[in-house]
Amino acid sequence: MPKIKQQGFMKALQCRECGREYPLEARHVCEFDFGPLEVAYDYAKIKTKLTRAAIAKRPQSMWRYRELLPVAQEPTVGVEVGFTPLIKADRLAKRLGIRELWIKNDAVNYPTLSFKDRVVSVALSRARELGYETVACASTGNLANSVAANAAASGMKAFVFIPHDLEKGKVVNSLIYDANVISIKGHYDEVNRLCAEIAGKYNWAFVNVNMRPYYAEGSKSQGFEILEQLGWKIPRHTVVPMASGSLLTKIHKSYQECIKVGLVRKSNYSVHGAQATGCSPISAAYREGQDFFKPVKPDTIAKSLAIGTPADGFYALKVFKETGGASDDVTDEEIREGIKLLAETEGIFAETAGGVTVGVAKKLIASGAIPADDSAVLCITGNGLKTLDAVENHAGSTREISPSLREFDALLDRDKTLTAK
Ligand SMILES: *Cc1c(COP(=O)(O)O)cnc(C)c1O
Ligand SMILES: [Zn+2]
Repeated sequence: MPKIKQQGFMKALQCRECGREYPLEARHVCEFDFGPLEVAYDYAKIKTKLTRAAIAKRPQSMWRYRELLPVAQEPTVGVEVGFTPLIKADRLAKRLGIRELWIKNDAVNYPTLSFKDRVVSVALSRARELGYETVACASTGNLANSVAANAAASGMKAFVFIPHDLEKGKVVNSLIYDANVISIKGHYDEVNRLCAEIAGKYNWAFVNVNMRPYYAEGSKSQGFEILEQLGWKIPRHTVVPMASGSLLTKIHKSYQECIKVGLVRKSNYSVHGAQATGCSPISAAYREGQDFFKPVKPDTIAKSLAIGTPADGFYALKVFKETGGASDDVTDEEIREGIKLLAETEGIFAETAGGVTVGVAKKLIASGAIPADDSAVLCITGNGLKTLDAVENHAGSTREISPSLREFDALLDRDKTLTAK
């Protein structure tokens, strides 16, 4: 085999199963065992460049950890993405019964208000480097929004494929950027299967198909930021929502890499997974002590997490084993309660995936899987304004009066719930 040419800090694409190496192209599966490919880096070289002092001098975006992200040159798409707030959530901590709690708030990620802006920034920058003009994706909603917006901002053509029953907010949020939005009469797993066929026929950069090894690495930036924002410490517990399971495995990888290049000291940590009961193949397998999940047909209000055949499910289950993490799931009702609890205590309006994370964190703290005297970070990954459908009939109602002081006085007299808050 000819020697693979290193690009920047990337050494090769490498099979996660057999370790065989491939050139740094738009490809994602091993030809021998169909294992997924992953980017391999030159950590020795990175260690000399990526120091805490060097990072501190750089702009506050996800690209301040650029040596550990898979582009050969400077990024060209989404250079402002990331560095979202890490909030100390004392009021929520009290309600959940834990000593210390943090919220990593990707509900305000730039530009499309979800963590998907991280993966898309990487995938599109890399697609550009590889000479692609057209980008595409199979999406549960947020990815479509981010591909459409970032393609528009960088003058690339975009095809986004979505299941037909997505929230209106997410559909409009893709159409507005003038992307080609193809709605598929089927659920996400069918959309994904179709996209694999389309990717084989058309020469496009499919961010989560042929570009997946690069795309997925973008998720690590959320982990890097958590570490830096905690003063370069690994949180004892991290709770992560799971669709394909990719974000969860990459947060684990980000902690491992920072140990490897000397940015944080090695310490005990657990990464926990959160799913919706209506689509919980990974948490079901965890509960049953299985290494493999059984595919399911999704039926949940958490549409952004509705993947019944999670590509990284197997690796997510491995992360629980390695870190002593747990996985659990919550019902639609508990998801709504989670959204409301986060909003009422911390003033953060998360989408359904956020309700899943808060709901599962509550269960894990109650069961002792996350001990009450520990500290935890919850990954909030998307914005509630995009999933209004899920909560609009559960958020209380307005009181309507005429513009008259007398009517307002009467209302306060009449309705004691107003002054009780
Ligand atoms: C895509 C998504 C996730 C998780 O996706 P993975 O496929 O597990 O990486 C979590 N939250 C939101 C809001 C998402 O859109
Ligand atoms: Zn292989």
